[in-house]
Amino acid sequence: MAAEKPTVTPMMAQFLEIKSRHRDALLFYRMGDFYEMFFDDAIAASEALDIALTKRGKHDGDDIPMCGVPHHAAEGYFLTLIRKGFRVAVCEQLESPAEAKKRGAKSVVKRDVVRLVTPGTLTEDSLLEARRHNFLAAYAEVRDDGALAWIDISTGAFHVMPCPLVRLAPELARLNPSELIVSEANISNWAELVPDFEAATTPLSRSSFDSTSATKRLQELFGVSSLDAFAPFGLAEISAMGAIVDYLEITQKGKLPLVRPPLRENVGGAMQIDAATRRNLEITHALSGGREGSLIAAMDRTVTAAGGRLLERRLSSPSRDVNLIQTRLDAIEFTLTNKQQSGTLRDMLRKVPDMERSLSRLGLDRAGPRDLTAIRNGLSQARTIEQTLNSSQVPTLFQQNMALLQGHDAIIDLLDAAVISEPPLLSRDGGFIAQGYDEELDECRKLRDQGRSVIASLQAQYAQTTGIQSLKVKHNNVLGYFIETTATHAEKMLSAPHSETFIHRQTTANQVRFTTLELSELETKIHNAGGRALEIEKRIFEVLKTEIIKEAPRIAEASKALAEFDLTTALADLAVGENWVRPMVDSGRSFDIQGGRHPVVERALRKQGQSQFVANDCRLTDGKDGAAIWLLTGPNMAGKSTFLRQNALIALIAQMGSFVPATSAHIGIVSQLFSRVGASDDLARGRSTFMVEMVETAAILNQADDRALVILDEIGRGTATYDGLSIAWATLEHLHDVNKSRALFATHYHEMTALSDKLSGADNATVAVKEWEGDVIFLHEVIKGKADRSYGVQVAKLAGLPAAVVERARIVLDALEKGDSKTKTSPKAIIDDLPLFSATPTPMPLQVEKGPSASDEKLAEILPDELTPREALQLLYELKALS
Ligand code: ADP
Repeated sequence: MAAEKPTVTPMMAQFLEIKSRHRDALLFYRMGDFYEMFFDDAIAASEALDIALTKRGKHDGDDIPMCGVPHHAAEGYFLTLIRKGFRVAVCEQLESPAEAKKRGAKSVVKRDVVRLVTPGTLTEDSLLEARRHNFLAAYAEVRDDGALAWIDISTGAFHVMPCPLVRLAPELARLNPSELIVSEANISNWAELVPDFEAATTPLSRSSFDSTSATKRLQELFGVSSLDAFAPFGLAEISAMGAIVDYLEITQKGKLPLVRPPLRENVGGAMQIDAATRRNLEITHALSGGREGSLIAAMDRTVTAAGGRLLERRLSSPSRDVNLIQTRLDAIEFTLTNKQQSGTLRDMLRKVPDMERSLSRLGLDRAGPRDLTAIRNGLSQARTIEQTLNSSQVPTLFQQNMALLQGHDAIIDLLDAAVISEPPLLSRDGGFIAQGYDEELDECRKLRDQGRSVIASLQAQYAQTTGIQSLKVKHNNVLGYFIETTATHAEKMLSAPHSETFIHRQTTANQVRFTTLELSELETKIHNAGGRALEIEKRIFEVLKTEIIKEAPRIAEASKALAEFDLTTALADLAVGENWVRPMVDSGRSFDIQGGRHPVVERALRKQGQSQFVANDCRLTDGKDGAAIWLLTGPNMAGKSTFLRQNALIALIAQMGSFVPATSAHIGIVSQLFSRVGASDDLARGRSTFMVEMVETAAILNQADDRALVILDEIGRGTATYDGLSIAWATLEHLHDVNKSRALFATHYHEMTALSDKLSGADNATVAVKEWEGDVIFLHEVIKGKADRSYGVQVAKLAGLPAAVVERARIVLDALEKGDSKTKTSPKAIIDDLPLFSATPTPMPLQVEKGPSASDEKLAEILPDELTPREALQLLYELKALS
């Protein structure tokens, strides 16, 4: 018998056709209440989502793998898949099965992809962090110019800036987009261009980047005849913006979200901070990846989501504009002196909903009735706030923003009249339009409700006529309204005279169900009235939506203004609560911090109930050559890194326009901020650490200017002593002589302290420690001068190195120090002369009795000065393995 010819069912044919257009995404194919996935999509999704893989039918003679998720729970699955690097194409039914049947008994329901879910195009509240931006970015190159554009589609904020390739990595680090679009022409060497970028990178065809069609696309979108109306954009900028709009059209299938007119970022306006510095200073993310332990977590006292996002934006790009910074500081100062008013203001702000995200859902047709009330409540809070502030003399920043809170009365009144105060989540079931807003709607609702009450009274009437007291009128989705009696009474209902009135519908195990003409008629009436009411509500929803969208740009402005009030009052609250002061910021080169603190470490110490944070001063004074550098020495764990970072953070906090954690601060605008940590602190990233350190140091030496602030922590630590010392030495000289930056340089190479005699702009400072009965006590106090020793052995002891090893290390160190100073003998000769290691009894004996063992040799190589506690521990493991 010939093999049966493989057939493809019509549904499978449809699936395959749609899938062929969306090869790079998992196709969520809607079937009734489920999204189903087939073939490889099913295998990948079942694994990623940890759901059962089954099969359905055959294709080419083989089983078709299948898995599915309920449609109402799909959002959660989207997020998991996106986090795992997938994209999802959502394929919906575009008609009902009944409509399909009309076209022919075997017709398949029409389906198509209505949306591509990608990391940069999420809008659902449940999938987004309220206090974080979700940026979609595009990088474009036209001839030799590069540009970066980005949008937060959940708020519509759209930005662009020229961006040469060399600036791309730092800008991406600043924006931290969830998805980046690049031309397929660039994608092959992308990983090399931006090695640090870990988010999704999506290639788009070259035509999406074409600047001529981009111009048309943008002009159409914004309804302008020339883009010069916004700013004189370069071709690369237009290309990047055009690619974003094209991508939105592709992923949203023509349903464009709200896109606000593009704002051109002021290139010279922000303090430049590169990726490594941001990571190292833990500005918006801690090194562990989360928000906890980052600067933003320590500073965030905002009470609205939009305010939280504004704080993130400010911390990511502190300003270089003295006037702007002063304006912001004035506003905080005003808030502090008007405590009562600002308390009221904050209480009012607490009630402001996330209007930006509601706006965008309205634009994308993913909104519900609560988005209408979010806009209404937000705008009416804005009005109240404006009126409250209006009575007093307010600072410039407030004045500018108050103007944006006014003039929304019409839309507030409209929404007030139209929508009830606490509407349901979904518009599907109606019930959100207020009584009295639409006559016809009220009429339909009345009919519907009256019908229901007539039905309720029917029960009593029927019980009376039949004499069956237990008779009930009930409702279910299959039968609609029906009359139910127990089986024992059925006979009575089915015989005269009742059999004329009651029509039998159904018999179940114990019950018999009937209907009557009257009941069916009433039901139809209720049904029609209810259906009509729903239709009217939907129509009104559309009208309200259109009205809001017309006003969207102004509503978005109001929301931005509210965020500004939120941030200002939050920073004022922080300043009072944490005892922060107004910094003096000017265009000079001062860097004078008195009583500075590290906000995150201070908070952590307080939380742990440990000792108080020790405040420290840092005054960098220009030498005659221009540079102003502190060379900081001191033992490990003394607080060098903390001191370095706190000063960088104070500059950053001041320039974002906030009070700072110090008793006084005078800062000449910092144009660029650089921070590097020694290789061994960077182990978590698991890369060739010394190489990374050197690449990053090279970047600083090539870029830093006399307005930069540079923080270098333990440079050269990742290599052998003399190599490391030489590199650190030369780096410091270069910073001093060529870059002429303001810098803090921490090192454990005490030899370098000699440099300060040679370099006019370099000064020595050290973190004080006290030695007490052989132990070291950290005072965490930064003082002028140099460290006398590094106390490595004591620190190792604190870290829990066994007594035998600590003791032996002391002997080696002693010999080295004595030998070194008296005879200038080489360390090798001294070590050769040392008596062999003989362990004193210890609770954890090392097996070393057998003469010069491998562990002895290893021990002789140890230079405790250069050990971090972690390295010491590692060595201990190695020693143990050798013995
Ligand atoms: P180093 O860089 O010198 O090895 P760190 O800056 O990492 O030292 O500081 C080690 C620990 O000392 C920190 O985790 C913190 O708990 C504590 N510390 C640092 N500076 C201070 C300070 N100024 N006041 C109180 N404790 C501090």
